[in-house]
Amino acid sequence: MCLFCKIVEKEIPANVELESEEFLAFHDINPIAPIHLLVIPKKHVDSFQELEAETMAKMTTFIQELAKKMGLDKDGYRLLTNIGENGGQEIKHLHFHLVGGTKLKWVHLSDDMKKVKEAI
Ligand code: 5GP
Ligand code: ZN
Repeated sequence: MCLFCKIVEKEIPANVELESEEFLAFHDINPIAPIHLLVIPKKHVDSFQELEAETMAKMTTFIQELAKKMGLDKDGYRLLTNIGENGGQEIKHLHFHLVGGTKLKWVHLSDDMKKVKEAI
């Protein structure tokens, strides 16, 4: 059983923020911003690449509700998922990172192209 399946089964503790029949949102153990949550389907899916679109639709509603609960819906936040080896995915159970609570840095394409290349 993978690490996040163990969290679903409560074999490993997690700081759960929101839960539904199908999804779980808990705080990242190593946050990169004031708010850093991980959103997962309870049923194991390796990555976004294997996710059924129907589940994604339901997950969208769950994530929007979570963002509202955390007070992030007005000022914004970042949502991302790493996929596979090249995407830098360390835990092989699909998870979305919901990051916010501060003005997040981002290199915009309109910025100096050198900076863009350094960031990739
Ligand atoms: P990835 O690199 O796969 O996109 O992200 C994995 C995330 O899981 C990382 O941000 C890491 O800090 C987090 N993480 C790893 N182990 C645990 C754990 O046991 N509990 C929690 N809450 N987060 C974890
Ligand atoms: Zn799993």
